[in-house]
Amino acid sequence: MEPENVDVVVVGLGVGGEEVAGRLAEAGLSVVGIERDLVGGECPYWGCVPSKMMIRAANTLAEARRVDEFAGSARVQPDWAPVAARIRAEATDTWDDRVAVERFVNQGGRFIRGSGRLDGPGRVRVGDQVFQARHGIVLSTGTRPSAPPIDGLADTPYWTNHQAIEVDKLPGSLLVLGGGAIGLELTQVFARFGVRVTVVEALDRVLAMEEPEASEVVASALRADGVDIHTGVMADRVDHDGQEFTLHANDVRYTAERLLVVTGRRAYLDELGLETVGIRADQRFLPVDDRLRVAEGIWAVGDVTGEGAFTHVATYQAGIVVADMLDRVRRSGAAADPDGTVPRADYQALPRVTFTDPEVGAVGLTESQARQRGINVQVGHVPLGSSARGWIHRADGLIKLVADADRGVLVGGTSVGPAGGEVLSGLAVAVHAAVPLNQLRDMIYAYPTFYRAISDALRDMG
Ligand SMILES: Cc1cc2nc3c(=O)[nH]c(=O)nc-3n(C[C@H](O)[C@H](O)[C@H](O)COP(=O)(O)OP(=O)(O)OC[C@H]3O[C@@H](n4cnc5c(N)ncnc54)[C@H](O)[C@@H]3O)c2cc1C
Repeated sequence: MEPENVDVVVVGLGVGGEEVAGRLAEAGLSVVGIERDLVGGECPYWGCVPSKMMIRAANTLAEARRVDEFAGSARVQPDWAPVAARIRAEATDTWDDRVAVERFVNQGGRFIRGSGRLDGPGRVRVGDQVFQARHGIVLSTGTRPSAPPIDGLADTPYWTNHQAIEVDKLPGSLLVLGGGAIGLELTQVFARFGVRVTVVEALDRVLAMEEPEASEVVASALRADGVDIHTGVMADRVDHDGQEFTLHANDVRYTAERLLVVTGRRAYLDELGLETVGIRADQRFLPVDDRLRVAEGIWAVGDVTGEGAFTHVATYQAGIVVADMLDRVRRSGAAADPDGTVPRADYQALPRVTFTDPEVGAVGLTESQARQRGINVQVGHVPLGSSARGWIHRADGLIKLVADADRGVLVGGTSVGPAGGEVLSGLAVAVHAAVPLNQLRDMIYAYPTFYRAISDALRDMG
């Protein structure tokens, strides 16, 4: 069949692809958007949005349980039904993407449901249709949950984040394999709704990608919620007897009614036809330059680039791809961006938030990452309880600052606390704009806020 000429083809309409495809269509290009599952991808249907609805509900229970401590007495009776109903009605439309498809079509895009793959230079095949893209192809195919090669695991009906988000009736007990951000957020939700949760993590601490002090605070908060945490445990076999899962590690066994595996996610590059354009498919992620180009005429955005599996990274990258592609269109494909107007991707102030209670907000480098890079590191550190607001609130948490002493600027910061993700905004500005430490010290910090603890951490730094 003769290929059909279009301006742009976007393969995968998750948050990244949807943003690129919609904006390019609005700019007047003929854009074909291909999605094999739901337009919007992981974030609205099985990720950020429904998980944060679950967290909102679980934190409400936790606050209500503190009435006895602060304000009288309250009896708390958890019920999952309103949470499941809200996820169906408000977040996912019962996992239906009609609204998102309509939005894209109204922006001027042409939507095709199916699996797209490259089919030679400039070409994408979906089913029997082949498109020749005049200006470019965008690969935004995201990641899918991946499970470790543990004996027996693949034959059991274990949960990924999909089943955990779709659950209507909570199990009595749950094993969570993986103590990263997603695992811990879901762990705390289920524990606060009365599920007996056991976390099994291979590394020596949970939340291992963040500061060790943050891991400690979160682990102790989870233990206070009744969670059983086991770190440094390498699972070697999983069984399911029809009723219960058993996870074996050396001679120890952990059992529960359900098993949630959240040990990581994988980009499935071998499905994309990369070999037809001379790109290796045996890589973990699609390597991109600072304008998100993979090769001539091919861009990538989102989780598939391996630059940080966050919605805000996907949308940030999408903005750059749109600018780069429109710049090329204006110049009719001639040497792009001679005057340097297209923004370049820069992740030095990448923010990330783990929405446990307390929340862990972090930006830039951790102390150990900064030391590994040979930076002359200076650290400031205070527990949140030493600030007026932290003490009033009886809040666990901390502020940790990591500075480059030679440049006199912050290169990283962590804020753990009841609003750790919000407090992070000040630290993100400081790292992003390389605000001199002296200027941060001279600032006025409102009393008594959680973020005022940043000024204490600066003092601690000396
Ligand atoms: C439980 C959970 C909670 C999370 N919470 C947060 C959070 O609080 N904040 C945050 O920033 N991030 C969060 N994330 C991460 C966030 O969801 C992802 O970073 C984001 O969805 C990445 O967007 P994407 O467009 O790269 O990929 P995806 O959202 O994965 O979308 C990729 C799309 O491509 C489609 N696709 C794949 N291959 C093909 C093909 N060959 N043809 C056609 N279509 C294809 C897929 O069906 C999918 O819809 C969370 C993730 C999970 C799992």
